[in-house]
Amino acid sequence: MDRIQGKVSFAQAIRLNHRAWRLWWGICPGLFVSVACFCAARAACPCVSVWMTARLVDELAGGRDPRMLMRLAAMQVAVTGVLALWERGLGRLKQYEEDSALCRYDRIFMDKMFSLDYEHLDNQAVYDRYAQIVEHDKWSGLGLYQTIELFETFGFSVARIVGGVLLTASMFWAKVPGGRGGLAWMNHPLWAVLLLGAVIGISACSSLCAGRGQEYWTRFAAENGLGNRLAVFYMSLSRDRKRAVDLRMYSQQERVGSVYMSRNHPLGPSSPMSRYARGPMGLWLACSKGCSAVLTAAVYGFVCLKAWAGAYGAGRVTQYTGACGNLFLGISDLMNVFGRMRSNGSFLERTYEFLDIPNTMYRGSLTTEKRSDRKYEVEFRDVSFRYPGTEEYVLRHVNMKFPVGSRLAVVGMNGSGKTTFIKLLCRLYDPSEGEILLNGIDVRKYRDEDYRRLFSVVFQDFQLFSLPLGENIARGREYDPGRARECLEKAGFGDWTRVFGRGMDTWLYGDLDEAGVLVSGGEAQKIAIARALYKDAPFMVLDEPTAALDPVAEAEIYERLHDIAGDRTAVYISHRLASCKFCDRIAVFHQGEMVQMGSHEELMADKGGMYERLWGAQAGYYQ
Ligand code: ADP
Repeated sequence: MDRIQGKVSFAQAIRLNHRAWRLWWGICPGLFVSVACFCAARAACPCVSVWMTARLVDELAGGRDPRMLMRLAAMQVAVTGVLALWERGLGRLKQYEEDSALCRYDRIFMDKMFSLDYEHLDNQAVYDRYAQIVEHDKWSGLGLYQTIELFETFGFSVARIVGGVLLTASMFWAKVPGGRGGLAWMNHPLWAVLLLGAVIGISACSSLCAGRGQEYWTRFAAENGLGNRLAVFYMSLSRDRKRAVDLRMYSQQERVGSVYMSRNHPLGPSSPMSRYARGPMGLWLACSKGCSAVLTAAVYGFVCLKAWAGAYGAGRVTQYTGACGNLFLGISDLMNVFGRMRSNGSFLERTYEFLDIPNTMYRGSLTTEKRSDRKYEVEFRDVSFRYPGTEEYVLRHVNMKFPVGSRLAVVGMNGSGKTTFIKLLCRLYDPSEGEILLNGIDVRKYRDEDYRRLFSVVFQDFQLFSLPLGENIARGREYDPGRARECLEKAGFGDWTRVFGRGMDTWLYGDLDEAGVLVSGGEAQKIAIARALYKDAPFMVLDEPTAALDPVAEAEIYERLHDIAGDRTAVYISHRLASCKFCDRIAVFHQGEMVQMGSHEELMADKGGMYERLWGAQAGYYQ
């Protein structure tokens, strides 16, 4: 997996960030409005407070009129109180918008995953790319989500700068009376330029140092993100029911626990990150603070000297020093934002690479006819296939028809291409060569969802959901409990009421309901078959449907296979050849080719053929 390195250029950073803001604006425009209002309120509060304090100090140093003082103090309390309340209220609104943005953030990736062609979902590189995005986000908030924070810091620093400029501008044109302490030279406009230059220069220096310190987060994001992922994975092992037995039998608890003490734990005391925090990273951040101190000293010096020379009174000193501090923080934050945009740029690039993965499967627009007689005939015509990004064909020149209502068994050794054949049949992939036809028309011309609606499939690694039993079978909240019950019984789960005390409303697994039932592998398989039956599609595909069943349940299923499939076209993949005897036709796959096709009797008559050899090998176990 290639790792993210380095910063992007300034122009690139702006472009990437702009795209992120546009994306956020598209899904939650309220976020920008609330953040902008909050920033304005947050920046206004100290400015107003500084300005009012300055008036109070002026009055104290000047007229000292008690009524005036009372009025100013009351105004200050009232105005700052109202502003603080306003800021709080807007803060809550902003928090609400940020929380909903967080949900929508997950939704962006969820939608992408759901809309991707299956070929991408089957590709490890796509998962790695997504895993990296999650790693960086969890580790230090790098990537798309950080752009919200950057917008807030950007807005707040601009508002702070505006407030600072408004409150300090008068300092430059307040004149030192002629001859006072020989400081009339301070009236020269060059001083204004010099002071402004110092504020900008030292702010730049401070933000540069802060940036160098923060760079360690991005520089080690790859390692730390991975470390974090490992730590989270190992932590989840302690509560992983499926792995609990293996962990104990192979004494892995110690190993899992030691990850927390190891040097690789990203947050551990001896991790590289901790060492950098104590070393150069801490030093850079201290330098940044040092710059602030130097600037504060320079500003205080200038402001106080000019006041001493008689340019303004004590109130203004309070106003200018407070406002200059704000101005300085605004400028250094703004510079910091641009620096962070640059380091976040490569993480955004990685996010867009994932979000921009194009779907390449042709999507037709034909709708499949709705036929009550289920007369849907599929044909493989000289189909060859290799997985995307691989050179080797895993299926070669497969020709096959699925007559309506027929029973076909697909057998062959591991890796012979049986599951791939089913994936092509369900159009999870398109053939590399040749074509698959539905009632004589290339399946690519049909709408995806329409075509897939024709298939009920139970894959080997099927998944049930942590939902009530009825919803698992019917794949939705609204369902017919009578039909769900019937499907369960057809699938061989006659005594299901014994296992599910609350009937169809019993939850599966304990993830979302304490009283959820932990079903066995065999029971789960029967529920999965019931789900396929409930879908009531014209094609029924069972990939190793009985692998987790005991021999009695398996025999039962096969005896009733004819009943279960009804008038559907059925395709079974099975390793147990005895179960295929019931099928009209058996296709034998070997090394990606269909080497034989016929009934059990026909294939057994082909002495030395693949089927007869496989049969002989299996029969040996039972003799
Ligand atoms: P079977 O179901 O007969 O055991 P499969 O159809 O699962 O065989 O696999 C056929 C071949 O295709 C195997 O060599 C397997 O390694 C390869 N294969 C399966 N899935 C993928 C994939 N997603 N990418 C690349 N090769 C794959």
